[in-house]
Amino acid sequence: MDLSMIRKDFPILKESINGKPLVYLDSAATSQKPRQVIDAMKTYYETSNANVHRGVHTLGSRATDAYEAARSNVAKFINAKRDEQIVFTRGTTESLNMVAHGYARPRLKPGDEIIITPMEHHSNLIPWQQVAKATGATLTYLPLQTDGTIELGDVEKAITARTKIVAMVHVSNVLGTINPIGEIAKIAHRHGAILVVDGAQSVPHMPVDVQALDCDFLAFSGHKMMGPTGIGVLYGKREVLEQMEPIHFGGEMIEVVELYESTFKEVPYRFEGGTPIIAGAVGLSAAIDYLKEIGLSAIHERDVALTSYAYDRLREMEEIEVYGPAGERGALVTFNLRGVHPHDLSTALDAEGVAIRAGHHCAQPLMRWLKQSATARASFYVYNTEQDIDVLMSALTMAKEFFSHAIG
Ligand code: PMP
Repeated sequence: MDLSMIRKDFPILKESINGKPLVYLDSAATSQKPRQVIDAMKTYYETSNANVHRGVHTLGSRATDAYEAARSNVAKFINAKRDEQIVFTRGTTESLNMVAHGYARPRLKPGDEIIITPMEHHSNLIPWQQVAKATGATLTYLPLQTDGTIELGDVEKAITARTKIVAMVHVSNVLGTINPIGEIAKIAHRHGAILVVDGAQSVPHMPVDVQALDCDFLAFSGHKMMGPTGIGVLYGKREVLEQMEPIHFGGEMIEVVELYESTFKEVPYRFEGGTPIIAGAVGLSAAIDYLKEIGLSAIHERDVALTSYAYDRLREMEEIEVYGPAGERGALVTFNLRGVHPHDLSTALDAEGVAIRAGHHCAQPLMRWLKQSATARASFYVYNTEQDIDVLMSALTMAKEFFSHAIG
């Protein structure tokens, strides 16, 4: 892997922030985009822009071909059996809401159970709260171990014959925990439940094979994997997609519309009401090509190296508390500098050109579990270097001195 060549592909990395070279450590919130993705979208708009699936003119076919080729590229990327198992959405949030409201809500009954974890992002938590409220189903939380991992024995204990859905994040956006999805799928299926996976932080960073994992649904976002904002994916097994109802009704998704009744297109088109995110899909497809060129295993290895370097360096600083498991983790480290609000810390780091995230990371129940109101998070991608982490550490040392009155 030629890191300097990779970095050259990302125009934004040449930016100066407050007079300092940008050190971007916020890829878990959104990744930066390589020139190849930006160019693919520009070329699409300059040469092929039209609406899809309807036009009989040449540009209409070009746009349709580009959009459907993107679907096929996504399917291969996650090893889906068929292209039709890929639904384009606006992102992980919309994908999970589709499952909750289109699949779960029409079929759950009072007394049925949904199992989730306290480490879920709000987008894999609130939809299930809403479904539970609307159907009378019970929402059950698995316990977390002190290091922020899940015990398979606890899944076995929690699951019953009434459990219909197990919904879980693959890689936590706060703790970095990597959940054993393949094992959990086996337990869920043995009890007749389906497994819904939030892959927002895993699909961009490691090989994810939906057939090997045997999950029923997988949701992820283009913008966290070098693609544009506004495009995401819902993968589903054929049988669950056939059972899911659309949640967006209107153009593009219909077969025949009568005055009082309508019929809908086949899967996946019935879930893509309205003009789809065509340029977004083209950009996502270019991002997938880019990731494949480097190789997902190589990206994961690089993440592991960077993250363990950052984890060790952060733990060297006595005033810093680091959260999440010590072993293999996603490409991020969440921490706090004692006595300093992470928003103040993030502002101090920004003055040094270092972009980290501070706040509750859309995981308020997890913040309560950590007994913190907020945390700081540094997250990495393949364009980051050990030197970026060294800059973070010097900026943290400066911040520590600046806030020494608060740290005590
Ligand atoms: N789940 C996880 C684990 C995430 O990290 C995020 C993004 N922070 C989401 C879901 C939501 O993704 P999006 O905002 O792209 O819908």
